[in-house]
Amino acid sequence: MYSAMSQSETVLSEQLHTLKLRFAEQLEAKIQVLAGRWSALGGTLEDSDALHDLELLAHNLAGAGATFGYASVSETARALENIFSRALDPASSQEINPSARIGHLIERLIRAASTPSEPVAMGGKLARGKSETGRDQRLIFLVDDDREQASLLAEGIRHFGYEVRVFASPRGIETALARSRPDLVLMDIIFPEGPSYGLECVTAISDPQVWGIPLIFMSSRDDFEARLAAVRAGASDYFQKPADPIKLIERIDQLTAVNQPEPYRILVVEDDETLAEAYALALRGSGMTVEIVSEPREITRCLDEFDAELILMDLYLPRCSGLDLAKVIRQQEAYTSVPIVFLSTEGRLDRQMLAMSLGGDDFLTKPIRPDYLVASVFSRVQRARVLRSFMVKDSMTGALNHANILESLRSEVARASRSGGRFAFALIDIDLFKTVNDTYGHPTGDRVIKSLARLLQQRLRRTDVIGRYGGEEFALILPDTEATQAHEVVDALRGCFEAIRQSAGSQEFAVTFSAGVATYPQFENAGSITEAADKALYLAKNRGRNQVVLAG
Ligand code: GH3
Ligand code: MG
Ligand code: MG
Ligand code: MG
Repeated sequence: MYSAMSQSETVLSEQLHTLKLRFAEQLEAKIQVLAGRWSALGGTLEDSDALHDLELLAHNLAGAGATFGYASVSETARALENIFSRALDPASSQEINPSARIGHLIERLIRAASTPSEPVAMGGKLARGKSETGRDQRLIFLVDDDREQASLLAEGIRHFGYEVRVFASPRGIETALARSRPDLVLMDIIFPEGPSYGLECVTAISDPQVWGIPLIFMSSRDDFEARLAAVRAGASDYFQKPADPIKLIERIDQLTAVNQPEPYRILVVEDDETLAEAYALALRGSGMTVEIVSEPREITRCLDEFDAELILMDLYLPRCSGLDLAKVIRQQEAYTSVPIVFLSTEGRLDRQMLAMSLGGDDFLTKPIRPDYLVASVFSRVQRARVLRSFMVKDSMTGALNHANILESLRSEVARASRSGGRFAFALIDIDLFKTVNDTYGHPTGDRVIKSLARLLQQRLRRTDVIGRYGGEEFALILPDTEATQAHEVVDALRGCFEAIRQSAGSQEFAVTFSAGVATYPQFENAGSITEAADKALYLAKNRGRNQVVLAG
């Protein structure tokens, strides 16, 4: 039941509907243009320029037709396109009486234009936007009858920057969900009402407003039936109790997308404007930024200004094929690695292979279901970003690596000195970390490090820079922050970290960190800033650890 449309998807499909109406309005005119061009030829197939034109017109109708619900327009246009392209290629087998067949098909096209079939559905869960209420803090509903366990778990989740509301029973949860629309629901299964009561209540929810809210079941039950019922109820995950809090948080982070990445930047190169807008709409609906280029010669300018991370390229464009355009793009050093995805009704394998060999990364065949388009683009850009981040980021924590945090520090110094600004730099080192490793093992140690990285990522501002300075050491750059403020911020982080209930199997423990803070312009270059922060950190350790010291 959680798989139906969310609100943003509904908006999206409404917009798609508007585009569909616009397409319908223009459809007749487009077909008239095609019919006019054909009758101007007087039934002959000699003029190859005119045939190319006709081929392109039919091609565009074939692609757009099905996307907007005109399946038979699409089919008929494709048949026309085939005849035109065969007429253009003397080596291929020819239609027996092509002119008569073309005439018939054009008539059929005109009839088909007045009978739309079902439009392509907007299914898929990818189009989830930001929290609808615009809350800063993400809201979690925790439904569990074991009050003590629930409040402990809630406490743990709050330390990661979530707001948690605890319910002792799933009775009436539907109304509460519709009213507050939380970002995620954590649901117990066994209640006094019955051993599957949690599952039953979720399955019974009928309000479409509630559909689409991510759901995790959490139960001491671990039988197949419970897991199966959870999947059928639309759950994204299932945790057996007692749930490992760090793993649970990791999953909650993913499902609520707390670290919303910068929107993906997609360039759509497509001469059919209505179709281009339909693609843009689907991609924007999933939070991506989209620019449209309908004129091939504009592409270089647009690439530079827009800094596209992926190019969706129609294979057939006026005056210049998508393949040629791909070559032009690949010749520029800055764009050798931007993924290019070709969009076309082209079904012939050799053409597709050619497109790939010329630097295309993927090939999508029109008509394209919007959700499939979004999914393919999403995974491509995601991968491209991951590949790029390998070079600058630490793989375990996602923070900048040592070299890059120092690089960021140097450019922050340059920026602040130009603008007369200020900033703070902090070094954080986990206390007695060797003991954690020795007592609970290295993998547990790794998870403690990750929990600190996650805390920093969640609690700091987007403009703050986080780096993994060493094994269990982190460095922070806090722009526009003065000494007392920086001390407060880092000390608040210290408090949160100390309160995290770390776990190793059934054992629980707490870990602390110490930190040293230095500020610019009191310390005026990267070298003196790191040195001062390091000295302050050393003092914090000496004074008994679990504290923040300001370099003086
Ligand atoms: P102090 O409070 O003085 O900082 O004590 P400490 O035990 O934390 O001492 P120190 O900072 O010198 O030791 C850090 C230890 O962290 C040493 C190393 O074995 C361990 N370590 C470094 N990187 C990693 C890592 O990626 N994973 C794990 N599990 N341990 C690491
Ligand atoms: Mg229970
Ligand atoms: Mg250390
Ligand atoms: Mg340490």
